[in-house]
This record gives sequence, structure tokens and C-alpha cells, in this order.
Amino acid sequence: MDLKILRTNRVIYQFDSQTAAVLLEAFPEIFARADKQATPVPAARSRWWVSKSVYTGTTVLNVKCDACQRHECYSGRGEDILKFQKSLCIHTDPCPEAIREQYTAEFSGTPSLGSEFWKTALAKEPERPQ
Ligand SMILES: [Zn+2]
Repeated sequence: MDLKILRTNRVIYQFDSQTAAVLLEAFPEIFARADKQATPVPAARSRWWVSKSVYTGTTVLNVKCDACQRHECYSGRGEDILKFQKSLCIHTDPCPEAIREQYTAEFSGTPSLGSEFWKTALAKEPERPQ
């Protein structure tokens, strides 16, 4: 059992459980249990959100890993999000249901980001002087 001394917040790990039980019973104002389950759950290491491409207006699914500082984007069919998820680093949590639903609802099956981008880029090219 892990035992915590309340006055100093110091934790004594793997303390003999019988002795710990006696101490907890006799001095509850001095000792407390400090089991591993009591430690707070670490914050999510990946974030998911939906945005629009500034170039094409295409709906984009974003994911950023706090551990690797990597930012990945996806712009494809909602059914293929799972495939995209498999290509990500090990820290990445699965895409939350609400985000996946939002993306699927907003994504309208437009052509891939690449071809849309080039169409826009070519349209902006100035005409050559004759
Ligand atoms: Zn990562």
C-alpha cells in the first residue's frame, strides 16, 4: 500500500499493508492512502477539430499530437477516417464521435484538396502578354 503523510504530502511507496492499516486507523489525521488510482488521469495528448481550408473552402479534419507537436490534416470521405487514424502516431486518441459527426456532416464530397488547390492557383495566374 502507498501511504501519504498529510502534513508534508510525502508518499511512502509499497509500505507494508498491515502496518499501514494500523497507522491509518490510529492516526487518520496524519496518514492517508495514496494508491495509484488516486493520481489524476493525464490530459489528452491529442486534439481533434474541424476547419475549412482557406484556399478551397473544403472541410478539413485536423489532429494535433501534443507529444510529437505534429499537426495532420484529412480531407476525404467520412468512412475513411478510421484509415487516416491508423496512419497517425501512437499517442493519438481516436477521433471523438462528435467531431467525426461534425466533419461527416460538413464534408460535401468535393474533389481532393490537391486538385481544388491547383484549379484555384491556375485561375489566379495572370494572362501572358501577346
Ligand atoms: Zn505523437
